[in-house]
Amino acid sequence: MPEGDTILSAARRMGAALVGKPIVAIETPHPRHALDRWPERLDGRAVRAVESRGKHLFIRFDGDLTLHSHLRMTGQWGVYRRGQRWRRSPRRAWLVIRTDEHEVVEFDGPVLELMTDARTRFDRRLAALGPDVLAADFDERRFLGRLRADDQSRGIGDALLDQRNVAGVGNMWKAEGCFKAGIDPWRRLRDVSDAEALAVVGELRPLMLKSVEGRHGTRWVYDRAGLPCRRCQTPIRARGQGDDNRTTYWCPACQA
Ligand SMILES: [Zn+2]
Repeated sequence: MPEGDTILSAARRMGAALVGKPIVAIETPHPRHALDRWPERLDGRAVRAVESRGKHLFIRFDGDLTLHSHLRMTGQWGVYRRGQRWRRSPRRAWLVIRTDEHEVVEFDGPVLELMTDARTRFDRRLAALGPDVLAADFDERRFLGRLRADDQSRGIGDALLDQRNVAGVGNMWKAEGCFKAGIDPWRRLRDVSDAEALAVVGELRPLMLKSVEGRHGTRWVYDRAGLPCRRCQTPIRARGQGDDNRTTYWCPACQA
């Protein structure tokens, strides 16, 4: 599943291709959007900005209209030079925005909606989002406030995936952050101090920021079930955690 770093990176590439460029065409090939008339509603409007917040992405057009998307498990944004071959089948394209030089395409996008800017501010799902882990000034107090308002019997690994606590963290960065901070993802929130919770974010945030720049470091535990820990040789463990049963990975020795 794309995490916040993937979305921020896509937003930057899309912004470079779209902002200030004349939009030649907007197409919604998927039948689900056939009646939405977005091409007519967006005709002649320039893109002001492309922004991300957690795993949500917003394409802001002139005249108070915004396309909001969330890729969930399967979606992907692509930015292509005109004439360049797409990495997924055109049949899976839900949205195409074309300029003289580029095509910006959303594939398999389960959440794609056109809304007014006002609604993006008041939409309940968006208002419920926790502080964005990739924001220039990550709001630590708000993060701790949300975490302490959560069920304190919940494991820290599970709580970090809840976008109401912190927006943008997904399964991979959660596992890597818990490892680097030396915290067992199963430890209950009530047994995790504020300093420890901040330490996990303090570890995963720079990893995500590096990833936005296209720099990928060593993967310590994610997807390494049964392999020896790179630090202590103990086999890495993996087990489904939380309501969504997402597989979490950890070293039982380094993360005691
Ligand atoms: Zn270890």
